[in-house]
Amino acid sequence: MNIPHNLYIHVPFCMSKCKYCAFFSTACTNPDWKKYADDICGEIKFWSDKVGRVMVPTVFFGGGTPSLMPVEFFEQIMNCIHANFDVSKDCEITLESNPGTLDENKLRSFVSNGVNRLSVGVQSLNDDELIFLGRKHNVAQSLKLLESGQKLGIRVSADFIYGLPEHNEKSVKILCEQINKLHLTHVSMYELTIEKNTPFGKMNLKMPDNETMAQMYVAIGENLDLPRYEVSNYASPHNECRHNQNIWAGDAYIGIGRAAAGRPYINGEWYDEMGNYERLEKISTKTRAIEKIITGMRTMTGVWLSDDVKPLINFDWVARHDDLVATNGKNLYATPRGILFLDNIMLELIK
Ligand code: SF4
Repeated sequence: MNIPHNLYIHVPFCMSKCKYCAFFSTACTNPDWKKYADDICGEIKFWSDKVGRVMVPTVFFGGGTPSLMPVEFFEQIMNCIHANFDVSKDCEITLESNPGTLDENKLRSFVSNGVNRLSVGVQSLNDDELIFLGRKHNVAQSLKLLESGQKLGIRVSADFIYGLPEHNEKSVKILCEQINKLHLTHVSMYELTIEKNTPFGKMNLKMPDNETMAQMYVAIGENLDLPRYEVSNYASPHNECRHNQNIWAGDAYIGIGRAAAGRPYINGEWYDEMGNYERLEKISTKTRAIEKIITGMRTMTGVWLSDDVKPLINFDWVARHDDLVATNGKNLYATPRGILFLDNIMLELIK
């Protein structure tokens, strides 16, 4: 049976490396885009042979900084996707971008080649914080890019980072008020985490303690105008990121690009595509169901209690912890308190 597959296309180039970044990306503004696009197209054909000419409900260009890509190569990749897959009429096509790499004209060209959702790495509304984070843009450039997207009538999302050394509940409330004034329909709020092999990892930063972090997280939920629909994501109704929602729900997806992971479904079996399509490993339906529980529980609607998921849930534990988890019979989800303890819940929840 051929099932739909969501596509994630990884673009591993950035203008420079941010000080907190542990993602797979290279600081390189002028890579060999032709080679990159040809390689991506080669992978697209590989996957079409493997999974068939399946329906594609979403395409997500993530990075790295996909907005650095010259539009002609984006067009080449989109043409290749259309030639090899059955792209759904209402396919959500997201472009991740960084301010300073994309002006309105270039964005318009991306839009005429199919982009209908723009995700902008705003990160902060304070220029000093942007310098601290090692970002190469300022707030004015971020606001301009958000406005361009809104003006072109596509869906616009902004990413922010909170939990910087000086942050506390009050500063996060002010940030939320500023974000509310931008009239965005989707916002992602990520806690700053310090990874070892980054410039931040080598500095002795005094980070907010766990309690302050938790207070900030609660304050975001209370002060942003948009409802939370996943641990770090907020959107007005129907403006959620469908690509991520599909993946969290356990649908099939293909990662294209050297470091992109995926979960393709080939001839009735699930596979782990471990950041490289040449290394495919079969995974059991049980493992796939556990993955669905882990990602589903991070969403506010929770995990669907399907036939593969149900036998894995420790319902005795659920019954004894109604302050942390709840069920409506169809789905199992974390309560607002439970969301703060997801890692611990997961250890008990799965049999
Ligand atoms: S723009 Fe994103 S991927 Fe690129 S270096 Fe900064 S955090 Fe990393």
